[in-house]
Amino acid sequence: MTASKLTRRGFLRNAVLTTAVLPVTAALTSRQAWAQEKVQPSEPQAKSLKYTHDASTVEAPQYSEGQKCSNCQFYQAGPDTEWGPCTIFGGREVAAEGWCTSYVPKA
Ligand code: SF4
Repeated sequence: MTASKLTRRGFLRNAVLTTAVLPVTAALTSRQAWAQEKVQPSEPQAKSLKYTHDASTVEAPQYSEGQKCSNCQFYQAGPDTEWGPCTIFGGREVAAEGWCTSYVPKA
């Protein structure tokens, strides 16, 4: 009988711990997936900022030659990367060769 109570108590403790840990694990996994997700030019925010993966195709009047994500102050990765997080897009990845109208040269 005592063993049965311990087993039931142990089961309940594990159930409570699992219930508490699962949402935290799911939130962390979701956040990582979000951070690694690439911005798509077809998205509403990207469209409104005229984001493109290839700055050489930009015809916007505010664009100047040489501007690209990898030399923008909002790009959060090194110069030798192909993709990196952009703070304007909530940390989602943009192309190093990309560009948008929020471009600000690195200081
Ligand atoms: S804010 Fe800068 S790094 Fe982000 S998408 Fe626009 S140009 Fe690229």
